[in-house]
Amino acid sequence: MEYILETQGLTKRYGNKDAARDINLHIVEGQIYGLIGRNGAGKTTIMRMISGLSAPTSGTYSLFGKTGYEMGKMLKNVGVLIEYPGIYPKLSAYENLKIKCIGAGIRPKGYVEEMLKTVGLENTDMKKPAGAYSLGMRQRLGIGLALVGDPKILILDEPINGLDPQGIAEVRQMLVRLRDEKGITIMISSHILDELAKVADSFGIINEGSLLDEFTAEELHRRCGQYVVIRTDDHDATLKALRDIGIGEVITEPDGTLRVSDHLDDTAGMSRAIVNAGIALREIHLQTVSLEDYYLGVTGGGEHNG
Ligand code: ATP
Repeated sequence: MEYILETQGLTKRYGNKDAARDINLHIVEGQIYGLIGRNGAGKTTIMRMISGLSAPTSGTYSLFGKTGYEMGKMLKNVGVLIEYPGIYPKLSAYENLKIKCIGAGIRPKGYVEEMLKTVGLENTDMKKPAGAYSLGMRQRLGIGLALVGDPKILILDEPINGLDPQGIAEVRQMLVRLRDEKGITIMISSHILDELAKVADSFGIINEGSLLDEFTAEELHRRCGQYVVIRTDDHDATLKALRDIGIGEVITEPDGTLRVSDHLDDTAGMSRAIVNAGIALREIHLQTVSLEDYYLGVTGGGEHNG
């Protein structure tokens, strides 16, 4: 598969500690990629390296399939919002965007007005200074500033951190709009898997500097949610017994355990079908795995630095 952004063994060492270790991540063009990890996991470190803001200790990355000097030239296609948006608090959203445009040599007529619309700030009182905006509005302005120059990739570090539910929903809708209407690829980090799961198409889980897993939204939903766990002493015969009562959505785990994801309200019917087929039923139960359970399972559980 072609990736718009890919890293190969990307590592950043501070003193004797790897803030990011041997990271190989893959971002598909036109998708939203969610980087999940607790505070201190290494998300910002990775984003800073692939934005060209800090040099890797070792490893490489490619943008649009290019590396090295060629890739450096591609960085102009990357819009970045890491840590705090560089906003002039005494100036309005319009003025902030105008200054960024002038700095970037962008002067098309109506560009700033269009950008205000893109980030949903077009109805804001034009005289109000950005310092008096809500955190959500400031965050959207920050994203607008990152969008100046029309980058093809947007890298956003914790853009929903500290926002109220309304602010989170607004940023979420905006990101989906940017992906769907402008085809922008977005990499977004968060420590809240539930929130990322509402927008991201693919995910990477970072824990203590390592990328533990990458998966698509489809895979995530397969791994989470509800399913019936069945253990018997005859895998093939059990599959047939389930098929005979119309159950087809079954995954076999590496240890032979079956996960059934249809007819969830009929564990009694499943038990009956298995027992009637003369199969020894060792275990059957309904399992619920929330996103949070899944995340804690992958990262080893427990709280870490808040
Ligand atoms: P947060 O959301 O809290 O920023 P994060 O997942 O983005 O978390 P990083 O900021 O990348 O994590 O930090 C990863 C680790 O690297 C942390 O232990 C942090 O203390 C350390 N670290 C980050 N930057 C530096 C630096 N400039 N010098 C030394 N250590 C650093």
